Amino acid sequence: MIELKSPAEIERMHVAGRFVAEVLTEVGRLADVGVNLMDLEHHVRGMIERRGAVSCYWDYSPSFGRGPFRNVICLSVNDAVLHGLPHDYTLRDGDVLSADLAVGIDGWVADSARTIVVGTAAEEDLRIIRATEEALEAAIEAARPGNRIGDISAAIWAVARDYGYPVNTEFGGHGIGRTMHEDIHVSNKGRAGRGLELRPGLTLALEPWFARTTDRIVYDPDGWTIRSADGSRTAHSEHTIAVTEDAPLVLTRREAEQPATPSLRLSTKDA
Ligand code: MG
Ligand code: MG
Repeated sequence: MIELKSPAEIERMHVAGRFVAEVLTEVGRLADVGVNLMDLEHHVRGMIERRGAVSCYWDYSPSFGRGPFRNVICLSVNDAVLHGLPHDYTLRDGDVLSADLAVGIDGWVADSARTIVVGTAAEEDLRIIRATEEALEAAIEAARPGNRIGDISAAIWAVARDYGYPVNTEFGGHGIGRTMHEDIHVSNKGRAGRGLELRPGLTLALEPWFARTTDRIVYDPDGWTIRSADGSRTAHSEHTIAVTEDAPLVLTRREAEQPATPSLRLSTKDA
């Protein structure tokens, strides 16, 4: 069932969204060469506790994964892209780090992810990060009343094609609100004009992610961490948004974030 949210409910999701944005900004500030993933995990745990928020990942037990997830943030490095299980790993110069966070505050949830490079960035890593950021902005732009879910999927796919990145269809965006995953899957590949018609009050997590040279994935023995099957590097960008009568409302926008636009394609600026 798809539940449309009232403006007041969307504002409550925005409260959670602002906090998620704040935490991901902090993760971007702290992630550096020599920092251990568990230091980031523990820092985020502290922030969540002090805010009185609830992690959507702690005790998360989907059909995949091995036992409940006992961390509050997903940290995926290099060829790892989704559900990265924080572990004892010290970040090295040039590592690509994707951080994905979903929390609830007073019963309403927001979900967002960003990818950054630690230390010296390789041009091809900045390029794929840029591609996911552009695809996310294109997806947000398509999230307007009268459009359909397929228009969002097609917008993401078009950016991926433009850059030459294959698109995996096993994991994509989703409805969100009272829980992290609500009805309607938003594939990162699809046809314009197909699927559910978008209406004001629809809240979605949109999350393009790409690997440089494959659309296939493999799981780590931990049962969680998902990597590109060929070991190529990856990136992931996600925002929680609300469809409104007017422009789409981004509930997890970071304060210093510069929304990607196609004209800035070769920019290396990171919010
Ligand atoms: Mg997420
Ligand atoms: Mg998500």
